[in-house]
Amino acid sequence: MAKSPAVRGRFAPSPTGPLHFGSLIAALGSFLEARCQGGEWLVRIEDVDRPRTVPGAADAIFRVLERCGLTWDGPVLYQSRRTEAYQAALDRLLHLGLAYPCTCTRRELATQPRAHDGSPIYLGHCRSGVRDPDRPQAIRLRVDDAPLTFHDAIQGDYRQCLETEVGDFVIRRADGCFVYQLAVVVDDADQGITQVVRGSDLLDSTARQIYVQRLLGVATPEYAHLPIAVDRYGDKLSKQTGAKSLDENDPGPTLWSALRFLGQSPLPELAHAPAVEIVAWALAHWGVASVPTVRSRRCCGACNGQWRNRRLPMR
Ligand code: GLU
Ligand code: ZN
Repeated sequence: MAKSPAVRGRFAPSPTGPLHFGSLIAALGSFLEARCQGGEWLVRIEDVDRPRTVPGAADAIFRVLERCGLTWDGPVLYQSRRTEAYQAALDRLLHLGLAYPCTCTRRELATQPRAHDGSPIYLGHCRSGVRDPDRPQAIRLRVDDAPLTFHDAIQGDYRQCLETEVGDFVIRRADGCFVYQLAVVVDDADQGITQVVRGSDLLDSTARQIYVQRLLGVATPEYAHLPIAVDRYGDKLSKQTGAKSLDENDPGPTLWSALRFLGQSPLPELAHAPAVEIVAWALAHWGVASVPTVRSRRCCGACNGQWRNRRLPMR
């Protein structure tokens, strides 16, 4: 009998700064879900958007992962070194007549209807020829109006109509930069990723990614979108909003809080144990079924890990 494909998860941070509580949740959740099934866990640095890349951030992320005892398999993949693979996928989509150049500017799209995240829903202006051939060209992917559905292991059933909710989306920007939505699909496929565990802020991107997977004829991994940590205003916790940065020399308490955030029940005594002990406890007790099935959880900042579930949509 053929062996079923092994479980392979990944953590794919963008190197825009040091790992903080929010990104640790994604690292820890994806690590535990893969390792508890005897699977592999890979790290990929998503530096496709070079202008946003902060020098030294990737190394700082590796250091924290190591200090936390979150060890990964194989070499790290850098998106900045993957241009050929993205170009091949783009050529394929162009060849199939599914992608087309677009020269619309932000200003020209200002009156289009808006998606949840505030970006314009592109109505296909350049589908039958660019507005202005003298301008630099972005490449957009043509979408359709068939509702796309998938099951998320934490968030449940999800449905999105790409045409009315997203519109034809950019896969290569006018400055030549490939876009995350394309890069992530090519990388997950090339790395043989079978499960994607990440923050719920990416739930809305998943339909686009499944759509690209189908066009390219690659497998769709399983998805589990973890709640994200937000402040009292519903904004994602980040450095700017006062997310405590992780103490590299003593990551234990943050790891412990991250486990509580993910609905796990480490004993209070464990909060001051060395990181490796906390991770060992988590490997023995992890249950994805205990993760709260909400998009975000709120902390008032002073309650020391008394997370409240938020059912409201994120801003
Ligand atoms: N690089 C993305 C981020 O840091 C995550 C992408 C993913 O996990 O698919 O938000
Ligand atoms: Zn256009």
